[in-house]
Amino acid sequence: MTAGSRDGVLYPPASVAVVGSGQLGRMFIQAAQAMGYRAGVLSATTETPAAQVADWTVVGRHDDLSALRQLAEKADAVTVEFENVSAPALRWLAKRRIVRPGWRTLWTSQNRLREKRFLARHGIPHAPWCPVRTADELATAVRDLGSPLILKTASSGYDGKGQVLVKDEAEAADAWASLGRVACVAEGWVEFAAEASVVVARGADGRAGAFPIALNHHERHILATSTAPAPVGPIVALEAREAALAVAQALDSVGVLCVEFFLTADGRLLVNEIAPRPHNSGHLTIESAHASQFDQQVRALCGLPLGSCDLVRPAAMVNLLGDVWSGGEPRWERALEDPAVKLHLYGKHTPKVGRKMGHLTALDETPEGALARVLAAKRRLTERD
Ligand code: AMP
Repeated sequence: MTAGSRDGVLYPPASVAVVGSGQLGRMFIQAAQAMGYRAGVLSATTETPAAQVADWTVVGRHDDLSALRQLAEKADAVTVEFENVSAPALRWLAKRRIVRPGWRTLWTSQNRLREKRFLARHGIPHAPWCPVRTADELATAVRDLGSPLILKTASSGYDGKGQVLVKDEAEAADAWASLGRVACVAEGWVEFAAEASVVVARGADGRAGAFPIALNHHERHILATSTAPAPVGPIVALEAREAALAVAQALDSVGVLCVEFFLTADGRLLVNEIAPRPHNSGHLTIESAHASQFDQQVRALCGLPLGSCDLVRPAAMVNLLGDVWSGGEPRWERALEDPAVKLHLYGKHTPKVGRKMGHLTALDETPEGALARVLAAKRRLTERD
């Protein structure tokens, strides 16, 4: 069989690649392989979750020219699994190969200042914020936003890293110093009732679909569980869907994108963050949706029509962090006693506290039932006789 393309559609067994080699890259590769593509990765080493399952690996940094050259030689189309891929590198690649999402989409979400300006420009509701690049701007932020507020570094923050809570005005200078006085966004404190997210898939032709809104619960700033559809009522669900689709359209993103929201007690949705890639809160789509978020990423990348984002059944996902290993090897057979529970492990060898090692998903007639089942399965993992 030889790979080919027709009318902008890349046919299997063409070579597709992902930049970044964690679990998101791994699940993209597995979805691509299921459709008959050869799937590769640009990875820092060969022992990574994505490289373990890839058909081929280019070892190197994502901004290293010789690694990029090899990638362009081997891949017909390239996607990413994290937003901080070098924009110049993607621009360089895009002159040679299909690259989705494009560098501009990533550029906006790589930096919280740019992201906030983008949301403001497009009238998409978000938390009140101020830029903090100088001591004067810090003083203005504290005056305008009041306290408490959260200082977040403009770039390279994730899972709560690069953030400090400023409880009152007196703490502000030290808080900014603890972040190295780098460019930051100061965000007003949002008294949210819940956190939620919508994953959107958008094709090169501009057609888009959105998965039902997921309810997300964080522990220590790391996603712990996602449940979908979130029990938020039809109006909030619709508003979240419309806001997420508006973000994808305004960014002109091709591929998969996740919009995270704060849901306030009075039912308002505020965008917290945009991730221009599949998202942890969308992992449950592997079992619960017609086409998973990774299937959609492959379809959008290869110019295929998108699949349906409808859920076949309500679902819940619980992350398995390294903490689960603290008392020894988890009892996998115990978790899987419930036939509605599925196990995903990412092939990481060292279980560290807070490190995402895998996840469990459960399906049920109701989202609440799915959550109860998946949490019970997780508890059984660490039960001792
Ligand atoms: P982020 O990295 O921006 O997603 O923030 C990580 C977590 O910190 C969020 O999931 C929230 O639980 C919390 N958080 C972030 N920003 C705010 C805010 N403005 N008000 C209240 N909590 C926040």
